[in-house]
Amino acid sequence: MEHMAQAGRRSLLDLSFSEMESTFAASGIRAHHAKALWRALYRDGTLDFESRTDLSPPLQRWLAKELGADGNFYIENPAQVDEIRSSDGLTRKFLLKLSDGQTIETVLMGYDGRFTACISTQAGCAMGCVFCATGQMGFVRHLRPGEIIAQVLHVRRALRQSHPDRRLRNLVLMGMGEPLHNFDAVMHALASLSDVRGTSIGPAHIAISTVGVVPGILRLADEKFPYRLAVSLHGSTEEERAALVPVSAKWSLAELIKACRHYCATTGKRIFFEWTLIAGKNDSPETARRLANLLDGIDSHINLIPLNPTGGFSGESSNGGLQFQKILREAGFPCTFRQRRGIDVAAGCGMLRAEKRPRPDLAKSAATKTPLQIPQAP
Ligand code: SAH
Ligand code: SF4
Repeated sequence: MEHMAQAGRRSLLDLSFSEMESTFAASGIRAHHAKALWRALYRDGTLDFESRTDLSPPLQRWLAKELGADGNFYIENPAQVDEIRSSDGLTRKFLLKLSDGQTIETVLMGYDGRFTACISTQAGCAMGCVFCATGQMGFVRHLRPGEIIAQVLHVRRALRQSHPDRRLRNLVLMGMGEPLHNFDAVMHALASLSDVRGTSIGPAHIAISTVGVVPGILRLADEKFPYRLAVSLHGSTEEERAALVPVSAKWSLAELIKACRHYCATTGKRIFFEWTLIAGKNDSPETARRLANLLDGIDSHINLIPLNPTGGFSGESSNGGLQFQKILREAGFPCTFRQRRGIDVAAGCGMLRAEKRPRPDLAKSAATKTPLQIPQAP
C-alpha cells in the first residue's frame, strides 16, 4: 500500500499518543486501539496495514478509510535516493527525499558495539557556521515531527536488514539543521521516539547537539527535558568563536557559558562540548588552556572533531589535535577524538546533499551503494 503525502492530509507520525487517542475518540473508535496502532507504527515499523491481520476490525476499517483515496492521513515514508557506506560497512549514510522534494541526510553508525542513528532536524540551517556544508546552503525549512521520526524508522529498517539481532538504542541530533531552532517539533518527535509503547529509545541515549541557542538550552534545563546535551563551541574567546560561528553575535560566548552553567546546576548532568579543530583558527595550546579555564567547574566532556573539508570553506584540518587533547586532559577534562570511521561519513554536515543535487533518475532507482574509503582516526 502506498501512502501519498497530499495537501490537506496529516502524517500519522505527526500525532502524539494522546492526539491519536482523541482522533479515535472523535471517529467513534475506542481509545485503546491507539495503543495497537502506536505499536504497529513505532515498535514494528509497519507501513503496510493490509497485511496486519492481528489488528482489530474497527482499527483496520479506520485505517483503510483514513489512508485511502479520500482519507485524512498518510504515513511518512521518505524515499531513499542515495546511500554511501564506510569501507567496513558499519556506517551508512542515507539521503532521503521528503514529500516536497527536499533532501536530508540520516546516518546509521555502528561502532563500539552499539548502533546509533544520527538524524536531521531541518532542511538546511540558518546558523551559517562557516565550515559546515549545511550552513553554507542556508535555511530551507523546519522538519515536522513526522519527518524527524521517519528518519529513525528508516534507519531501524536498514539495521533490521543488516543485523536482525541488533537493536537501535541511541539517537543523536547531529545531522542537518539546528535542533533548538526547531524546538517544539524536535521535542514532540523525541517524546514519540522515547515512548516505551513503541520505539522506546531511552532518553539518556538521546543527545541533542546545539550550536548554542541559549533560550533553547535554558528551556531544556528549566522544563526538565530528560535528554543529553551537546554544545558546539569551537572558540575560546568571543573573537575566535565569532569567526567560525556567526550566530555568536546573537548569543555571545559569555552568555552561552552562563547558560551551560545553569544547565549543569539545574539538571546535574554533564555537557558534551564539540570542537571542530581548524588549523590556525582554534587549535593552539593557548586556546586549549583558555578553553580549560572557560569550562572550569562545568561537568564537561570535550569531543574533538577533525575538520571535514567543504566547498565553501578554505580552512584546513589541524595537526595540533593531540597536544590540544593533552592540555585538556591534564586540566582534568575527559577529551576524546570523534571516531572518523563513524562520524565522518556520519558528520551530517550536509555534504552528501551538497554533492548530490536532486536528480529525478535517482529517486526512481534503487539506492546506489558506493563504497567510501574513510580515513582512520589519528
Ligand atoms: N546544529 C547542531 C547539530 C548539527 S552539526 C550543531 O551545530 O551542534 C553537528 C556537529 O558537526 C557540530 O558540532 C558541527 O560543528 C560539526 N560540523 C559541521 N560541519 C563540520 C565539518 N565540515 N567538519 C567537522 N565538523 C563539522
Ligand atoms: Fe547549522 Fe550546526 Fe551546521 Fe552550524 S554546524 S550551520 S548550527 S548544522
